[in-house]
Amino acid sequence: MSRTGVANSPHYADPDPRFPFPHSPTPTRCQTDPKLFDFANGDRTSDRAATEKRLAKARRACSGCPIVKDCLRWALVNKPLTKVGIFAATTPGQRTALRKRMVDRLGPDWIDVLADQDQARRERAAAARHNPLTISQARIVRLDREINGPMPKPLTPTQQQRNMARLMAGLKAA
Ligand code: SF4
Repeated sequence: MSRTGVANSPHYADPDPRFPFPHSPTPTRCQTDPKLFDFANGDRTSDRAATEKRLAKARRACSGCPIVKDCLRWALVNKPLTKVGIFAATTPGQRTALRKRMVDRLGPDWIDVLADQDQARRERAAAARHNPLTISQARIVRLDREINGPMPKPLTPTQQQRNMARLMAGLKAA
């Protein structure tokens, strides 16, 4: 099943409607080469060397993906949809560890906390469209951009490497 299929399939648990699968400006590698990302047997198979090679290849592909950050968020939030496979360079086991860290940071209702933050961000953006920003609102918008970054665009090779290093460091710490 393709990645698009995972997100849309009626046979899987419903995705959380508050977190739609992120839109990519270009087709992602997991859409054009879904087999590379499917690890239906868990993190390891009997042919460990071949699995490691495939894992490394999938991680490299994710590190250059324009929606890697939102993909990881989507995968963490939608646990029933991401029991298997590589999403945002993470294995199911690594995502479980990251979910535990989210509980530590934001509490057991961390998904609701994220949804509330998103809603507040959307409301601020909508208000900014209809009313001129006050100085303090403009400050909040600027801060939001600094924290969440600009609209995704294709990454340079250097950015891809940096992304990869950050992902791996984060996962090691998990
Ligand atoms: S980060 Fe990886 S799994 Fe997620 S959309 Fe991009 S290529 Fe697919």
